[in-house]
Amino acid sequence: MSTFVAGAFLTAALPLLAAVGVDRAVAEEKKPARLLLVTVTKGFRHESIPRLADRVEGLGRDSGLFTVDRAGTDEELRAKTTVATLRAYDGVVLDNTTGDLPLADRDAFLAWIESGKALVGIHSAADTFHGWPAFVALLGAEFDYHRDQARVQVRIDDPRHPATESLVAPIELFDEIYLYKSFDEARVHMLLSLDRHPNTGAPGHYPIAWTREQGKGRVFYTAPGHRDDVVEADWFGRHLLGGIRWALGR
Ligand SMILES: [Zn+2]
Repeated sequence: MSTFVAGAFLTAALPLLAAVGVDRAVAEEKKPARLLLVTVTKGFRHESIPRLADRVEGLGRDSGLFTVDRAGTDEELRAKTTVATLRAYDGVVLDNTTGDLPLADRDAFLAWIESGKALVGIHSAADTFHGWPAFVALLGAEFDYHRDQARVQVRIDDPRHPATESLVAPIELFDEIYLYKSFDEARVHMLLSLDRHPNTGAPGHYPIAWTREQGKGRVFYTAPGHRDDVVEADWFGRHLLGGIRWALGR
């Protein structure tokens, strides 16, 4: 092949090669993410844990957005949270976890999130790691107390977020409503909240769901998820899927 012919061939082929590269990038983008779903508890154990795990897994399967690998025992959690094993995942879902979970390496876990991974916390995820200030700061708050289950009207603070854009305000919710401490609204991006105390009705601003970014990591926390019927609610599924999608940066 003469230099001229080879040059002409390359000129003709370059746009094609570029197109193949774009297709490959699109295919990569469409490949499901891999989430580690943790159901280990060291304090209160919610009855809704298995249903919530199935719900999250189903959302990933139906959307094609992610697949789920579960850590349901201390041994599984330790094995799946080492520096090496965390590399297999794009993020973690804390499904009603409580207490001090036996992560293999707390510092590595934190660094892993900050490297660009997703942290999704549902309901009592905020009742986890109370004695680990770096985790509380990462999540954005910690559970303080709750009273009787209550019927509340949830306000949408940001209706344009993937976790809220499909919702209609106010959202009618009957669930165990958490009150938080170690919360600073300036450190989070609010998604959902109440404008009165769920039990006393005292006016105020009570957070329900928010996001945070730390390093390159993305945190999505949402408070509902105590009751099975909340876990199964249509709006909650759309809310969860949108929040997970955002946390994965998709
Ligand atoms: Zn609860």
